[in-house]
Amino acid sequence: MIPHDQNTRIIMHVDMDSFYASVEIAHHPDLYGKPVVIGADPRLNRGVISTCSYEARTFGLHSGMPISQAYQLCPQAVYLPVNMNLYRLVSERIMTILKQYSDLFEQVSIDEAFLDISQSYTYLSSPILAKEIKREIQEKEGLLCSVGIAPSRYYAKMASDFDKPDGMTIITPGDLLSFLENLPVSAIPGVGKHRFSLLKRAGIETIGDLGRTDLFTLVSIAGNWGIMMHHIALGLDTTGIRVAQPRRSIGRETTFLCDTDDPTGMRETLLHLTTSVHHTLVDSHLLCKTITVKIRDSDFCTKTRAVTIPTETDDLKTIIAEIMNIFTELYNGDTVRLIGVRLSGLVQKKSVQTSIFDYLS
Ligand SMILES: [Mg+2]
Repeated sequence: MIPHDQNTRIIMHVDMDSFYASVEIAHHPDLYGKPVVIGADPRLNRGVISTCSYEARTFGLHSGMPISQAYQLCPQAVYLPVNMNLYRLVSERIMTILKQYSDLFEQVSIDEAFLDISQSYTYLSSPILAKEIKREIQEKEGLLCSVGIAPSRYYAKMASDFDKPDGMTIITPGDLLSFLENLPVSAIPGVGKHRFSLLKRAGIETIGDLGRTDLFTLVSIAGNWGIMMHHIALGLDTTGIRVAQPRRSIGRETTFLCDTDDPTGMRETLLHLTTSVHHTLVDSHLLCKTITVKIRDSDFCTKTRAVTIPTETDDLKTIIAEIMNIFTELYNGDTVRLIGVRLSGLVQKKSVQTSIFDYLS
């Protein structure tokens, strides 16, 4: 078997093109083909461009440009305020589309995500997936994106940046060094204006130059970042995507202000704690299979008791009933200092098979 290393790893970066401006155009078709600028109000003469359409870019406008300067260059553009609620809504729908294509998914901003597609695709078959994703986003949201496919996170991002808008750039491990050779150093994510000018002063303009520069010189120019850049320039980066560790359990506990032997008060506290963990459970789209109650008495002796139920659930009533049953069995009349609940055996809600009982109930 081929080891799962940098030679076989395939990372896809999907980056929406001029996202805010494109969302506005998709929702207001009369804006189509016009220079559209999202950002500060040009009449107020302060603030900057957040995003602008490609039509606006032909007038020399770009994100981060002072809005007053933009207005001088292109007074005929349509100037719109940032409508974050709308962009977030569209972003959520796009991320839902992307997640379908790989469980190894990492959203990095409102309009960008990485997918590790190594398990199901090869470099040869990956363009089919890229086209399918582009088609689905365009069909459902009326938006274009650029896709980069490469052996690491950095190279995938550089690939999606390489050909915008509506681009698709695939860099196989074998093509990597020739792809990097003539790219400007500014193509490396994280090389801003400052580092760019320092490198330029040292005669380093392309990533090829960067790779041929000795490490000592690079470190003297850019510190530790110099090591990283050199590594990237030599095609050695193997960074994969960062997937959040799945949650193992959700727990809450509380220490009473004064030790107590009042079971009614303890039940009330358990009810609060259960409502709180249940809220997190539902919010995270999870179901639980094991329910645990913990009691610590005034001598710091801790007892826990867990029950595993036959079917995963997120039903509050079921969980509360189990918690109260466990408490009844566990509590022996001692004075109690701390009480807690925990839900574990967590599974994603969607991956649970529908059982015949769901139809009968
Ligand atoms: Mg973008």
